[in-house]
Amino acid sequence: MPELPEVEVTRLSFADRIKGAYIQNIWTGKPLRWPLGCKNEELTGLIIKCVSRRGKYLLIELDPAMLILHLGMSGSLRFEDLSTPATQKLHDHFVLQTNLGVLTLNDPRRFGAVVFAADSNAPMVDKLLGKLGVEPLTEEFSAEHLYRSLKSRKLSIKQALLGGQIVVGVGNIYASEALFLAKIRPTRSSSTITKAQSLRLHRAIRETLSRAIEVGGSTLQNFTNAKGESGYFQLESFVYGRGGQPCKICSASIRLIVQGQRSTFYCRRCQN
Ligand SMILES: [Zn+2]
Repeated sequence: MPELPEVEVTRLSFADRIKGAYIQNIWTGKPLRWPLGCKNEELTGLIIKCVSRRGKYLLIELDPAMLILHLGMSGSLRFEDLSTPATQKLHDHFVLQTNLGVLTLNDPRRFGAVVFAADSNAPMVDKLLGKLGVEPLTEEFSAEHLYRSLKSRKLSIKQALLGGQIVVGVGNIYASEALFLAKIRPTRSSSTITKAQSLRLHRAIRETLSRAIEVGGSTLQNFTNAKGESGYFQLESFVYGRGGQPCKICSASIRLIVQGQRSTFYCRRCQN
């Protein structure tokens, strides 16, 4: 499933190239998770001001409306500018043709969506974006915020992070990696976190996500950005996907357990 770094990498791979384009035509294929919410032709002629991101949602900002785009479980975007002829592929379900190129959402499992919002007060804006936690790479996400939020929760620390109400974008892979770097066991009760640990965890979350964005993201083995380039993060993970293999720091065997129906990887020697 594409996580925040993949979504950000996708954004960076086409945002500059589509900025300022005007929409010429929209084509929609099979139904996605949510309906578009407007007639295709209502989008014709609108200008794309910029592409921003909130959590795992890409926001194609029009004037004054917005398209909210989610990649779901298996979605990927590709942007073909005027130098390459636009292609058509199986599982293309949303095509946005502009004067600067064609943006296509390909989504085999169709849990992704593109939703139109007439303005920031539209009900779907609140439904999709209203309850999201703070952005991990902004100043709003402070070590103090993390400490207070974890302290007030009774579930395991990993599940508190995955919930998304404290901070967005710390999905399964990144939670496992950040907890390893912070030397905190994922099963530990969130409320028992110390100030020193939350400082380490805060730094680790930022480092893990920034690093993943830097190398191009790669939650999915077949993840590609909108230029068709793939990422490499998984190749260098410390614990994620390495159950039974030796810890890169202490050589103990990496444990694989199931927490809230998700795989969790940790080193019982390095993390407590
Ligand atoms: Zn270890």
